[in-house]
Amino acid sequence: MVRYCEVCGRPHAEIHHIIFRSEASYLSNIPINFKYLCSNCHRGKNGPHMNRNTDIKYKKQLQQNLFHIFESKAYYSETEIIKKLDISSSEISRMFKGLRRYKEGYKKEDIVTLFMGGTLYIDEHEKEILDLIKELNII
Ligand SMILES: [Zn+2]
Ligand SMILES: [Zn+2]
Repeated sequence: MVRYCEVCGRPHAEIHHIIFRSEASYLSNIPINFKYLCSNCHRGKNGPHMNRNTDIKYKKQLQQNLFHIFESKAYYSETEIIKKLDISSSEISRMFKGLRRYKEGYKKEDIVTLFMGGTLYIDEHEKEILDLIKELNII
């Protein structure tokens, strides 16, 4: 099956791992972490491996995508996660080992953080607000 580049539409796209394998090897077989790119959009000067802004842009898109998929509830069961992300149950149990399971299920933020390789990306102004809240001890 020929894959087309998601950026420019050229055929024979390669799989790019939005969260690099060096950042989280456990995400290397997870389809939501794939982005199809031609060699130029992948390895060229504006590609995610050469351009930090492109890399961050794709990571933020993945994060948005994940929050969208898990937007309806605060907690999800393993079965729901398997269905939503099209991954095997053995993959899930391997990945979720060590993640806190509440009686309602896994927490949305924990799930998204895990599929983001352990890091959430937030904008500078959001970060300032969060820091301010922490400083003021509101939460
Ligand atoms: Zn391309
Ligand atoms: Zn890549």
